[in-house]
Amino acid sequence: MSDAGDIRARLTQIDARMAEACVRVGRDPDEVRLLLATKTVPAERVLYALNAGRVLLGENKVLEGESKADEMAKLEALNRPVWHLIGHLQTNKIKYALRYATCIQSVDRARLIEKLDARLQYEGRSIDIMLQVNTSRERSKYGVAPEEAIALARTAARYDTMRVIGLMTIGRLGSTPEVARENFRLLRQMRERILNEGIEGCHPYELSMGMSKDMEVAIEEGATMVRVGTAVFGEREYPDSYYWPQG
Ligand SMILES: *Cc1c(COP(=O)(O)O)cnc(C)c1O
Repeated sequence: MSDAGDIRARLTQIDARMAEACVRVGRDPDEVRLLLATKTVPAERVLYALNAGRVLLGENKVLEGESKADEMAKLEALNRPVWHLIGHLQTNKIKYALRYATCIQSVDRARLIEKLDARLQYEGRSIDIMLQVNTSRERSKYGVAPEEAIALARTAARYDTMRVIGLMTIGRLGSTPEVARENFRLLRQMRERILNEGIEGCHPYELSMGMSKDMEVAIEEGATMVRVGTAVFGEREYPDSYYWPQG
């Protein structure tokens, strides 16, 4: 099969996996969106997915995302991509991220929120954000500690340059996807807690959780968006530790 055909076939498999997980827990498959994690994947291959109607894309590294977004804009595509930043954002890279990302899923500290606000004000625009929560409490993962998430939501809600549309987490990786279940459950509970606070302008509906290996578990626990890379594009050349900090 051609590379394009291969990617299309894998996307169909993912759709089936997502739908089956939804059916198991009585959810409507339309409630769960697929974001394609495109790190290390060249623009031409991402284009195959885009032309198959998969427009929601996520990048980890700000500059890799920026050049890929640029490249893809030059390619003739049937659809326009929607980019989310799903990796760590350093404050000195904010302006590059804002060139292509319409949502920053990795907001995890007050200082980043302040700096984001300053840049957004300068550009006269606003953006969607998600708060990344370190639900597994692994030192190797970014994200706000669960007990600090409500305070961070309050901080973000003070700025009208950003809308907190959801929460994001990376589940614990282990020998079975089940090891992440409690992390995903905690993220859903965090959403309830934040909603119960009734913070004005803070409606974190989205739960961005689940990846190639554990997306079914995440969907069972309430994910509204799964982020999938390997299962669509194949194994990456770099280990994930290149993208995530060392523990
Ligand atoms: C790479 C990555 C994914 C996708 O992981 P796969 O195992 O390749 O599906 C999802 N979320 C984040 C934050 C990532 O860095």
